[in-house]
Amino acid sequence: MIDLHMHSTFSDGTLTPTQLIERAKQNNIEVMAITDHDNVDGLKEGRIEAEKKGITFINGIEVSANFLNKDIHILGYFLNLEDEEFLEWLKNLQEKRQNRTLEILKKLADLGIDISLSEVEGEVLGNVIGRPHIAKIIIKKGFAVTMDQVFDRYLGDGKPAYVPKVGVDMVEVVKKLKANGAVVILAHPHLISHPDDTVINIIDNLIKNGLDGLELYYPNIALRKKNKLMKIAKKRDLILTGGSDFHGLHRAGIDIGLGNISTEVFQKMVEKKEKIDKNRKNI
Ligand code: AMP
Ligand code: ZN
Ligand code: FE
Ligand code: FE
Repeated sequence: MIDLHMHSTFSDGTLTPTQLIERAKQNNIEVMAITDHDNVDGLKEGRIEAEKKGITFINGIEVSANFLNKDIHILGYFLNLEDEEFLEWLKNLQEKRQNRTLEILKKLADLGIDISLSEVEGEVLGNVIGRPHIAKIIIKKGFAVTMDQVFDRYLGDGKPAYVPKVGVDMVEVVKKLKANGAVVILAHPHLISHPDDTVINIIDNLIKNGLDGLELYYPNIALRKKNKLMKIAKKRDLILTGGSDFHGLHRAGIDIGLGNISTEVFQKMVEKKEKIDKNRKNI
């Protein structure tokens, strides 16, 4: 089994990298990637623990970008963690997140929900604050019962306390990941809340800047959407990937190993990475 998309406590997952690897082992995972939002801080621990358990570990990340006020997530695989320029750029993203958190808290206060930054920071182990952390406090304070309700009422795309991560342009994200030597994949394109033709334009625009593939193996993706995206990918010679997007055991029915991809599909990614490295050597 192969799972290339999951989150640890270094972003908004509830398991530490070590606990993720333990669970992956239980679920018979042979190849895995940790893809925390906007940071690579859990990868070292993940790799050490994965190697102990004989699991092949891929350095991953899921970078949040923005296009026309909606979130676009871009995955990078086989990251080079020695790339100082890339690490600096990530720091910059994390600062932008911090500012956004403050803006969200302001909007919530206007709606009568008072939450302080230190309350949010109490929910976070790493330095990447996400909406789920804020959502937990909203629930604790009794303004909603479920995560879905929080996103539906307050934090989801376009809702009253939604703040896009302004300034993180999707093309910039692809370029930075390419400069790092990563294989670059558009995460869960079926969840992008733009109309279909806009999504196709997004894909074509990103391809021009180096996008390598689409994430199409994903829990609960509707077959019709998958087939449609599959055609789009085939026409453009994009590779396909997949993963569970596991965030912890609180999401009913989502576990490590869902979104499993075959060894053949994974092999295409490996070949892509080899090609990228070869081309870079020739420059
Ligand atoms: P952020 O990175 O701060 O924009 O938060 C995005 C994260 O919020 C996603 O990766 C999900 O983990 C979570 N999320 C987004 N929409 C929902 C939803 N409707 N219900 C629960 N969690 C959500
Ligand atoms: Zn997340
Ligand atoms: Fe995502
Ligand atoms: Fe994710």
